[in-house]
Amino acid sequence: MINVSERKKTPPLELEENQQVLVAAMADVSMALNSSLNLDEVLDRILENLAKVVAYKTANIMLINGNIAKIVRSKGYEVLGTKEMMMSKSFDINELSNFSQMISTKQPILSFYPHLEQDWHRLAESEWIKSHIASPIISDNEVIGFLNCDSDVAGFFNKVQTYAMQIFASQAGLAIRNARLYDASTRLGKKLRSINDLTHQVLEAKSLIDIFDLLPEKLIDLLEGTNVYISKWDEDTQTVTGWAATGEFSKDYVIGKSDPGDRTLTEKILENQHSTLIENLDHSHLMEKKFHGLYREKSLFCLPLIAEGMKFGAIIIGYSSLDQVNEDVRSMGEYAAMQISTAICKIHMLEQERIQSSQLTHANALIESLSHVSTAIKSGVDINTVMNTIGLELELLKIHSMVALRVGETDNLALTYSSVQSKLVAFIKNLGKTKNTEVITSIDTLPLFREIVDTQQAEYIEHPEEVLIQITPPNFKPAIVKLIETLAITKNTKCILVPLVIDKKSIGILSLWGESLQKIDIQAASIFGGQVAIAIENANLLQEVQRLAITDELTNVLNRRGFDEVANREFGAAKRYSRPLSLIMVDIDRFKAINDVYGHPIGDEILIEIAARARTKIRETDYISRYGGEEFLILLTEQKPDNAKTVAERIRKSVAEQPFNTSVGKITVTISVGVTGANSQISSISMMIKTVDKALYKSKENGRNRVTMIDKI
Ligand code: GH3
Ligand code: MG
Ligand code: MG
Repeated sequence: MINVSERKKTPPLELEENQQVLVAAMADVSMALNSSLNLDEVLDRILENLAKVVAYKTANIMLINGNIAKIVRSKGYEVLGTKEMMMSKSFDINELSNFSQMISTKQPILSFYPHLEQDWHRLAESEWIKSHIASPIISDNEVIGFLNCDSDVAGFFNKVQTYAMQIFASQAGLAIRNARLYDASTRLGKKLRSINDLTHQVLEAKSLIDIFDLLPEKLIDLLEGTNVYISKWDEDTQTVTGWAATGEFSKDYVIGKSDPGDRTLTEKILENQHSTLIENLDHSHLMEKKFHGLYREKSLFCLPLIAEGMKFGAIIIGYSSLDQVNEDVRSMGEYAAMQISTAICKIHMLEQERIQSSQLTHANALIESLSHVSTAIKSGVDINTVMNTIGLELELLKIHSMVALRVGETDNLALTYSSVQSKLVAFIKNLGKTKNTEVITSIDTLPLFREIVDTQQAEYIEHPEEVLIQITPPNFKPAIVKLIETLAITKNTKCILVPLVIDKKSIGILSLWGESLQKIDIQAASIFGGQVAIAIENANLLQEVQRLAITDELTNVLNRRGFDEVANREFGAAKRYSRPLSLIMVDIDRFKAINDVYGHPIGDEILIEIAARARTKIRETDYISRYGGEEFLILLTEQKPDNAKTVAERIRKSVAEQPFNTSVGKITVTISVGVTGANSQISSISMMIKTVDKALYKSKENGRNRVTMIDKI
């Protein structure tokens, strides 16, 4: 049994007599209790000073946490050898009637025979107690603990002591409350200093790396979680990557094993726009189950990173239990997230500004060269000069260019110009497949080209190298690799394809590529495209004007001017290279009579038909012209007079043997023909014409509808 030593009995104080003594004692006690704000010290003092108010054998202070009361300070158990046991014990306040009674009544309890009460039997160590008083410790109208005093003398405590103890307990309650408040405010102060430091640090950061280097650890200090994960949201692609994280897991998180896994979570956090608590990830609809493994904790406190309406990502703090996320943690987390978002936003803006200014410089350079190009176009030079001007201007900006034009109305594209033309020509020759250097591709072999031709919208290609390789059939791969090299396309080369549009029709594609190209250049490139299209249109118009100048309007063959031009050129070439050249002259027989009988318009119809028939009997490389009213000259290159005579005979027959279908019916027409060839005695084209005229005269003289050749003068 426990050795209970006899105590000197203090005679009970009479309430009225001793009230003044008690008040004086309480004043001292109160001062002592409130002389410290440190909770440990306050508890020590409570127990020390309790003895001044009430005598006891053992006493303790219990504090309540949830449903459990624990002894935090004790006196007297050492002698009994039960200190350790008592200090380690948890008392369920709902199960012990004394405690639950004090909680509901907020009044002290005086037990004369505590061992007779049922609850006490459970504790063998308490069997020695013969008298017991206890008082609830109240703070803010709530029972936060108990003061207990025991005696081994039956009837030791009386009402006066109970009353004194109650007053003392209320003082103790105040002292504990103050100490706790102080403790909380000290902790909060520390946190506020740390959040202040963090804010300064992120706001002064020059780059995101500066921010994310220290941030996760600091956030753990501040918000007391197990791990911190910071996810980065990409608004363009709507995807998530890891920005930073703590713990062993941080590497996995940052290298993107979380993508697209926690996309759903970050997206939802950003959608919520304020902090989100997830008690148990397994039962949360905010994240798909298969991605749960991305976070080591089941409880998450999530903060969106949003500033100026821009979404940057989320801070996700893992906790073993969300009990840790109290109001302070929550509001500090929200404040920190707001400051971090502002810092990220600032850096983002600076970055954007930097990019924009470099893009502007670039765009300015493009626009400046554009003005040179416009000048070249306005000065009315031919298409090749314009293309060269464009090509050279762009090369100065390290941008290569190429123009492919549609062949007529077909879906074939012909390579018309390239700033890397010579290299390209060498490459094509090397391939050995094409005799000429004209490269023609069907639009449909290049789906991108098809799209541009159809939509008439310019397109920016981030990785043209990949695109080229992608669209190449396997057996052409080696050639394409070589082509990529020839075109100076690297991994960093970007490309813009611009449709060339005239009168709402796509006439071709301008390709621009280079490492300095940027998406923003699409606009300038489109203007370039417009200029090229205008240059091509101008060139086409000029060509048409030139063609009209040398074409006979009625028969659509060369006119006299056109003939003189080509004939002089061909005569010179034939002379220079001693190549054969022949000339045929055709004159309609009795044409005056046809005009007289059927009228001039019918005569015109016959002129048109004669030119058409003659054209079918000669080659592409020969020239036919209406030299006089009803006289045609046909120049046959690379043809000796004998061959020319055969051709002339065929023409004559094609006229004589097939009556002409005119608007007044069938009319039979004949022609007389002269033939001659270039030889050493003939020194000019006009001499050749004179000779062929003589030959023609002979045909007329000899009865018409015949061919006469003079190959020597
Ligand atoms: P031949 O040559 O057989 O000696 O007799 P011809 O009647 O054809 O005589 P000539 O060559 O001198 O006649 C020229 C005629 O051709 C005169 C004119 O009526 C006709 N002629 C000339 N140019 C045109 C033209 O542009 N249209 C039409 N309908 N007739 C023309
Ligand atoms: Mg004539
Ligand atoms: Mg005639």
